Amino acid sequence: PAGLALVATPIGNMDDLSPRALATLAGAEFILCEDTRVTQKLLVRHGLSIPLRPLHDHNEDAEIPGILVKLRSGAKVALVSDAGTPLVSDPGYRLVRAVIEAGLPVTGIPGPSAAVLALTLSGLPPHPFLFQGFLPPRGGPRQAAIAKIKGMEQAGLAATLIFYEAPHRVAETLAALIEGLGPERPAALARELTKRFEEVRRGTLAELLAGAEADPPRGEVVLLLGPPGEAAEGAENLDDALLAAMRGMSL
Ligand code: SAM
Repeated sequence: PAGLALVATPIGNMDDLSPRALATLAGAEFILCEDTRVTQKLLVRHGLSIPLRPLHDHNEDAEIPGILVKLRSGAKVALVSDAGTPLVSDPGYRLVRAVIEAGLPVTGIPGPSAAVLALTLSGLPPHPFLFQGFLPPRGGPRQAAIAKIKGMEQAGLAATLIFYEAPHRVAETLAALIEGLGPERPAALARELTKRFEEVRRGTLAELLAGAEADPPRGEVVLLLGPPGEAAEGAENLDDALLAAMRGMSL
């Protein structure tokens, strides 16, 4: 159908492009994308030749009026990002808002998103979850963001937290999370999902930091934290189990 289609693309494994995603891209008048080279590679692999138009944070506002004109004339336009689901820590939100406000059709072709896949593989409670995306890269604003999370937790938020992070900042971010939220929080580091070196490390924040220092995680990573109280609960259960075991022992 005419309108804007948000099309999810692979997060590593090129086979994770659904037939409907492919058909939608093939039927688009043009594709809005981040890095045209990345999307071009995807198109070439599937034998497609569709005009590409870059859409990123710096030109999104300027591009919106022209895209709306196209959509009003009945064009089919697709939006992709370099990887995964558009808008999720990627451009497109302002465009989608504008399309909705203009009363024009918008639809989505679901597919990979690193956040949801990492959540399901983490072994942490799947809901409620809070997707935080990237923390601010610099120390001060990052501590402030973590303090804000701590404030929400003190007010009762008990959710699994999901962060995106650049691999070279993982150890630094783990240290900042330990400083703000304590070393005992259950956590997980999911890296290179859907790729050859896919790996999920699970443990307390302190254990993950020790691991990240000894063996820095390479590639793309998602960092997850279990809800507060989980660790304490786990420890209580362990205490109960120990007590029960000791009661059973004839001393
Ligand atoms: N839109 C994408 C999505 O739906 O997942 C996310 C784009 S964001 C700019 C890129 C971040 O997503 C990376 O820094 C990493 O935190 C995460 N990511 C993307 N692909 C990943 C993968 N294969 N394994 C682990 N994390 C990944």
